[in-house]
Amino acid sequence: MRIFDPHIHMTSRTTDDYERMAAAGVRAVVEPAFWLGQPRTSPASFADYFDSLVGWEPFRAGQFGIRHHATVALNPKEANDPRCRPVLDLLPRYLDKDAVVAVGEIGYDSMTPEEDEAFAAQLALAVAHDLPALVHTPHRDKARGVERSLAVVAESGIEPGRVVLDHLNEVTVGLVRDTGCWLGFSIYPDTKMSPPRMVELLRTYGTERVLVNSAADWGRSDPLLTRATGEAMLLAGFTDDDVDRVLWRNPVEFYGQSGRLDLTGLDAAVDAGTGTWAGNSILRGGS
Ligand SMILES: [Zn+2]
Repeated sequence: MRIFDPHIHMTSRTTDDYERMAAAGVRAVVEPAFWLGQPRTSPASFADYFDSLVGWEPFRAGQFGIRHHATVALNPKEANDPRCRPVLDLLPRYLDKDAVVAVGEIGYDSMTPEEDEAFAAQLALAVAHDLPALVHTPHRDKARGVERSLAVVAESGIEPGRVVLDHLNEVTVGLVRDTGCWLGFSIYPDTKMSPPRMVELLRTYGTERVLVNSAADWGRSDPLLTRATGEAMLLAGFTDDDVDRVLWRNPVEFYGQSGRLDLTGLDAAVDAGTGTWAGNSILRGGS
């Protein structure tokens, strides 16, 4: 099973996670810029963070045979902090970088006027830089947040097929399904979606334009839940080809729209399904 996790915050994870992910079949990840828990007090903190998302973290992932790309944005939560607003002016510089395959995470946290502004401004940046957009949907008041996000997306003029609305669930999937936008689902250990619930949604809505991610970060989360979802799909009667579509070809198609997704060399180097690199077990950083 080859796996592309289209939304995972590796900055918050250990090398043990990279090892386990590689062994489970994860060969590519996209790491969206997000809130780090501790509020940042100046745009310079973001510049260092963005630099690490396009520099250090791809190197670290590479030690484990995993290809790493990033998305860059001012996240919805910190869009409310006036100290962080100048980050919007930093973004064009990063959106030109080869390792950046979308604008994100953008969208709503508490649905404030400040978030409205940052969301619209960053969708305009996505259009200007010809990049897809990753839209985080809020954890509270979810249905209203999704409806409002779709309205802002429609107003922006971005092509819906270049937008994913993420963190969807049974309540919100129907709102997005016929909009032409992609459907993103984050599988968590005990909140939001679980692998069995995800399988039910795939049965109901099919595999087209569906992205499944672990969204693993510094909270309680599990970077192997993409693999668990693939296994749950097989147990439920989906084919290997269905699993490959959801866990590999769909994210390749979505982020491929950036024209920057580089997956060359992965097939040659990783022995399919065994999680080894060029016939050896995991490479270790520094050795
Ligand atoms: Zn996230």
